[in-house]
Amino acid sequence: MLHGVGVQSGLSFGAVRWMTPSIDFRELNIELPIHQEAKDLYDRSVGLVIDFLEKLSQNSAGNSKAIIEAQVQIAKDPALRKKVFASIDREIPLLDAIANASEDFKVLFVRLGGLYAERVSDLEDITNRISAMVVGLEPPGLPSSDRPYILAADDLAPADTATLDPKTVLAIVIAKGGPTCHAAIIARSLGIPTVVAVANLDKVTNGVAVLVDGDTGSIRVGVDEVEAAETISKGERFSIESIPFGPTHFSDQRLFQLLVNVGTKREIEEVISQSCDGVGLFRTEFLYLNRSNEPTVDEQKIYYGELFEKFEGKTVVVRTIDAGADKPLPFLGLAKEVNPALGVRGFRVATSRRDVIERQLEAIALAGADSGAKVSVMAPMISTVSETAQFVEMAKGHGIARVGVMVEVPAAVLCAEELLGVCDFVSIGTNDLAQYLFASDRESPQLARLNDPWNVALLRAIKMVSDAGLTMNKGVSVCGEAAADPFFAALLIGLGVSSISVGSASVGKLRSMIARCSREELQRVASFSTSLVNPVELKVFVQGEISRLLSR
Ligand code: PEP
Ligand code: MG
Repeated sequence: MLHGVGVQSGLSFGAVRWMTPSIDFRELNIELPIHQEAKDLYDRSVGLVIDFLEKLSQNSAGNSKAIIEAQVQIAKDPALRKKVFASIDREIPLLDAIANASEDFKVLFVRLGGLYAERVSDLEDITNRISAMVVGLEPPGLPSSDRPYILAADDLAPADTATLDPKTVLAIVIAKGGPTCHAAIIARSLGIPTVVAVANLDKVTNGVAVLVDGDTGSIRVGVDEVEAAETISKGERFSIESIPFGPTHFSDQRLFQLLVNVGTKREIEEVISQSCDGVGLFRTEFLYLNRSNEPTVDEQKIYYGELFEKFEGKTVVVRTIDAGADKPLPFLGLAKEVNPALGVRGFRVATSRRDVIERQLEAIALAGADSGAKVSVMAPMISTVSETAQFVEMAKGHGIARVGVMVEVPAAVLCAEELLGVCDFVSIGTNDLAQYLFASDRESPQLARLNDPWNVALLRAIKMVSDAGLTMNKGVSVCGEAAADPFFAALLIGLGVSSISVGSASVGKLRSMIARCSREELQRVASFSTSLVNPVELKVFVQGEISRLLSR
């Protein structure tokens, strides 16, 4: 049995497939054919890569399908073949010929910008696949499998997770990371059972069958299929059922605002507006990740507009770009920092690149004006009242009516009332707030337990912010990952937050929990919570109290 931190609930059983680490093919000391034989080998390898991708694309949908189809086009591109063949004619070894052609096209794509620049990672992936096929190795990156599997990785980049196909990935197990790392956030939005910070995961080899429990964070090795099936069906009987659509109300029919978190292109495409009251957190940095140049105002407008048009008449809270720390964006030209989590990230980027945020606000305002959605903006990583006032002035300057900030830094908790004095609402980002409150890196597997949201210090901080909202008569939302747990969400509502925003996979369970309780009952449970200093004791207490309310 291996142990980690469960970040998305659910049980899954299947064979492990490891993410293949990246290799520099040029450094492999392998004797390969030259001249015409090298060209034939290249053509054969490209053909096999195309066959594989086409088969994969038939079993995929949405974003993943589009990405795979674009890769097939790159593989078929005669210009790539011509460049490789020209190098072979100059007696350059085949793997170098492929790498050089890839490099040349990369430079060209970056220079062309726009959609071409976005294709750089696809180009790299395709040329890696061709090189891997040439030498008979597994290509780096996500495993190539058309059979469902349990994805194991040392770590996952947000971009890797964004292209995962939930139809083939049964569960995700990661050696690194913490409960609020970005891979965990995306995995949660896909609803795939996920365990991070798994100790000794490297002992589990490819092909070994494991039973993953995203609730307890355990991974059992050596379970047979019959036992796994029994455990899974037993687990399903105890889970809270989901109410996927419609308004969210308490047992006395009073309404509660339940919103969704959206970020990746796939989430934009797949979110269903009837499943929620709107979008409480639109993480816009996903448009910028993997970009070597800034998206233009027009590109941004199209991207945001796609989401806005789905939410006619509903709230969409757009968070301005949250770059820096675990989400580095090369085009911002930020200096390397010793301590990036405490460095120039989030709204702090405005100190040196205010122009980038101004252009983003312009695009949001333009896309908002073209849609019937009620578009608001909020800034991440706000520490002071003056930063809040600066952001409000910038956003209102672009004609955006409702402007808020995120509470992710302890200083913002302590000044919540004053922040609400200059902006329209706040949204608590418990992922970062926990990181900065407990001084524990959200990406660190060793510190995963320190970032446990059930720690009373975090709850007291949330209570302070909700109280400030009541005093100022302004909205206080929670959009951090902790809210995706229905028991924790119950506590948040009891502490007085006015809305909750979670990944779309969690909305139905939260709605179902809220429907069976009254706000007063949740307040009663929460009133004891801020004095329970042991997180395990607190969790057991809240789970017990809420389960009793649910089983009436
Ligand atoms: C948070 O910090 O809780 C949050 C919602 O923002 P992100 O996870 O994108 O940093
Ligand atoms: Mg954050």
